[in-house]
Amino acid sequence: VRIVRDPDAARAIVRAWRGKGERIGFVPTMGALHDGHRSLLRRARRECDRLVASIFVNPLQFGPREDLSRYPRSLARDRSMLIAEGTDLLYNPSARAMYPPGFTVRIEVPGLGDGLEGASRPGHFAGVATVVAKLLNTLEPDRMYLGQKDAQQAIVLSKMVRDLDLGVRVVVCPTVRETDGLALSSRNAYLTRPERAWAPSLHRVLRETAAALRTGEMTPRGAEASIRRRLANGPGKLDYARAVDAETLGPVRTARPILLSLAYHLGKARLIDNVVVRRAKGR
Ligand code: AMP
Repeated sequence: VRIVRDPDAARAIVRAWRGKGERIGFVPTMGALHDGHRSLLRRARRECDRLVASIFVNPLQFGPREDLSRYPRSLARDRSMLIAEGTDLLYNPSARAMYPPGFTVRIEVPGLGDGLEGASRPGHFAGVATVVAKLLNTLEPDRMYLGQKDAQQAIVLSKMVRDLDLGVRVVVCPTVRETDGLALSSRNAYLTRPERAWAPSLHRVLRETAAALRTGEMTPRGAEASIRRRLANGPGKLDYARAVDAETLGPVRTARPILLSLAYHLGKARLIDNVVVRRAKGR
């Protein structure tokens, strides 16, 4: 794997591949790679001629009281995974190269970016959209691979790509979980042993609530209240539990898929997870 830090150098390498008619697949990450990232790399490797990944812990998407300074970093291990998965290029820019003094532009995605994570993390999606727009401008990939784990992020970025005519196809890949159901996340590394043992409860509650939503046994509001109730006595603190339209993130509409999504503070980690509920016609 070639590791490139300079944007112009990365652009030149990818342009040469495109010039030969090769299809470029792109997986943006913040590093500390795990099997969730691996599944994105594999899918891109399968579907494209060239596999480009980026590792950049993007300061713009972290709030002032968030975990930017202690976010896990493991470039040597990440490199091994990238090599094992057949990555052609790792773009690993410095914060200085991405945001030189005087950098002011922000890409906002109002509406889609305002609720759920956006409500709890003001400015988060502007940070995400801005950095991904920069990465896409530099690398000009044909396809970008994102995880359903960050459902709202995938929706916000797909909207940005459409609205700005960025011409990349967005491919959303299923959430990869531990065998006990916990969604893989770089932030799981923050959990103590007892916290890690409890953490699969989040997915269990989501799954069970999703089943009740699917059959019509619970309404969307009832589902939210039920999750709040069931997690009220847990070891951490629920940030939000929401049932929204899986595409618009607005109010649930009859027979449309529902995104059931939550964020939970557990020790030093803020964990997010979601499931999509597809209902029988007429419900
Ligand atoms: P991150 O490094 O956390 O910014 O994530 C980079 C990409 O990997 C994003 O598109 C995430 O949605 C995706 N991702 C993270 N965790 C998982 C997971 N458990 N399953 C599938 N994709 C994931």
